Amino acid sequence: MIKPLKEVLASATRERWAVPHFNVPNLEMLKAIIEACVEKRSPVMIGTSEGEREFIGLEQAVALVKSYRDEYQMPFYLNADHTKSVEKAKLAIDAGYDSIHIDLSKESLEDNLRKTKEVVEYARAKNDAISVEGEIGYLMTDSSKVYKSAIDVPPESLANPDDASRFVHETSVNRLAPAVGSIHGIALNEPHLDIPRIARIRELLPDTACVLHGGSGVPHDQIKQAISAGISNIHISTDLRVAFVDTLRKELDAEKDEYALYKIMAPEIAEVKKIVLLHIDLFGSGGKA
Ligand SMILES: [Zn+2]
Repeated sequence: MIKPLKEVLASATRERWAVPHFNVPNLEMLKAIIEACVEKRSPVMIGTSEGEREFIGLEQAVALVKSYRDEYQMPFYLNADHTKSVEKAKLAIDAGYDSIHIDLSKESLEDNLRKTKEVVEYARAKNDAISVEGEIGYLMTDSSKVYKSAIDVPPESLANPDDASRFVHETSVNRLAPAVGSIHGIALNEPHLDIPRIARIRELLPDTACVLHGGSGVPHDQIKQAISAGISNIHISTDLRVAFVDTLRKELDAEKDEYALYKIMAPEIAEVKKIVLLHIDLFGSGGKA
């Protein structure tokens, strides 16, 4: 029997390690992640953004993750990452997603509260095992990009700890993504995580899983400090995309006579797998499955 995601996150939150979250747009990326997690005995959240899940198909994404979970009998979960509307959240819940991230961080706090609560209630009515994440404060930029310039995080974009506490109590979300200084994508300058802010949010919300988005490009010592301060779920997307696309470009250039796609895809899978293995070690999630 595979534990519900909520229980895995509760253990991580209590024991100060982080459940990895990796985004997938296709089967090759998913295979790389699953192979690494099986090797390390790590639980994992597989994320699909709105664009990724429309590309794969919602039912297909659910079936794929379920097929690996059943085959390996390991805690692999599917998350509807950065869902920007109540309607799309409901579609993912209806399709059988294990987890929903409702991201209304660009809306007013009041609208964010009201609509996030609506998603939590819809999810609970459907299946109590579904874990719901809300987000406050906002993240700059886009995880499909490697920026050639420095990106500054304005202080007003960071999550206010009192708002965080109110948000969780009023919405009953299982996980909270507070903006704490990371960005989506990778910029020229290093991000600077606000560790005391994470610690304060953890203190106010001892039982809520705290999620760090935009983990790519964050120096590893800061990731470790963030986990010690209370982050128990970390999203990595851009690092995997860069590994995949850079390897694909090289491979197509080097193997001009090769047309068997599964052979062309093997080096990309191997490179992505390396990045996943490295993050499992960094997050301390190995052996937790
Ligand atoms: Zn994110």
